[in-house]
Amino acid sequence: MWLTEELNNLKKSGLYNNILTIESPIGGEIIIEGRKLLNFCSNNYLGLANNPRLKKAAIAAINKFGVGPAAVRTIAGTTTLHKKLEKDLAKFKKCEAVLTFQSGFMANLATIPALVGEGDLIFSDELNHASIIDGCRISKATVIRFKHADTVDLESLLKKASKKVKKLVITDGVFSMDGDIAPLDKIYKVTSKYGALLMVDDAHGEGVLGRNGRGIVDHFNLHGKVDIEVGTMSKALGVVGGLVAGKGEIIEWLTQRARPFLFSSAMTIPDVGACIEAVKILGSSGVLVKKLWSNADYLSKGLSRFGFDTGKSQTPIIPLMLGEVTLAKEFSNLLFENGVFAKAIGYPTVPEGKARIRIMNTAVHTKKDLDKALLVFEKVGKTLKVI
Ligand SMILES: *Cc1c(COP(=O)(O)O)cnc(C)c1O
Repeated sequence: MWLTEELNNLKKSGLYNNILTIESPIGGEIIIEGRKLLNFCSNNYLGLANNPRLKKAAIAAINKFGVGPAAVRTIAGTTTLHKKLEKDLAKFKKCEAVLTFQSGFMANLATIPALVGEGDLIFSDELNHASIIDGCRISKATVIRFKHADTVDLESLLKKASKKVKKLVITDGVFSMDGDIAPLDKIYKVTSKYGALLMVDDAHGEGVLGRNGRGIVDHFNLHGKVDIEVGTMSKALGVVGGLVAGKGEIIEWLTQRARPFLFSSAMTIPDVGACIEAVKILGSSGVLVKKLWSNADYLSKGLSRFGFDTGKSQTPIIPLMLGEVTLAKEFSNLLFENGVFAKAIGYPTVPEGKARIRIMNTAVHTKKDLDKALLVFEKVGKTLKVI
């Protein structure tokens, strides 16, 4: 059987994904195989994945509306709960309208093919997320990759393109492996000059960037200028779900043409209930977002003091640059043995020779947690002669 061989090849080359089983809620600490670990792996930036208010809201939503939407919205209607989430999100993000999807991945698969097709052009940052790449493929538009965050390259490519065809520029907001932020203000300038639509995928900026975590558009004060903002409720918002925010007409178009909206059921009731509460928490207080950034700053400074290379992150994602993938894996294993959960990331997710430990910060770590983690990083760094 060819699959047996392929699976063995993955295992031999070290590219096989071993998925760990978690025996506790996702928080600053988690339990894996009976061991309590400090968690620096999940995208639970604000700790909302196990927040009591979200849990209560999800249960209340179930009690009122049941558990599932039971059909696609265009055929069987939609609940007032789904409408409320979209209205609240639009208000929070200061845009005309929002449409929710089952996930951020779905939101990209839905949006890109609804806006461009055969004969059109997509200009896509070379480091864009897999769901953008797949959305571009499904659309059948011609994809032109521009150099990462390079607006000079983007402009030269836009300049060469025919004026007559529809053009869409797409970038991640925050790049999840390095933690750098797309220069969206400069991208907007170039994009608008050449009459292209601009779409940003703010999965790692939602709940992290901007006032109270309103995202990258708010961070750069580009309200009303970025045409399409894709987001996720699966990261900082702590639940699961995707969203598209933008002009009313674009959102209306998606309700008519986006296939995952037309042919797949809506978000579940408890997810929607919990997300409404998450938006409410963010809208009323910036405390969690501030705590996230101060935690990241504390950890990053501590690691730098030990002499670690922490890359060029501009966000609470800290890449601990190690180089060889074998070293990164050994580092991660030793962290695990010492009670810290942070994963090694290597080729092909990042370029060869740029393997790293990716440290994901969260607002729910205490200073004691961070000090404990720093001691472990120092110990492992010295053991492996990295510092
Ligand atoms: C995580 C991520 C997604 C997928 O979001 P889900 O809600 O988990 O499907 C999409 N785009 C980017 C840039 C991401 O980082």
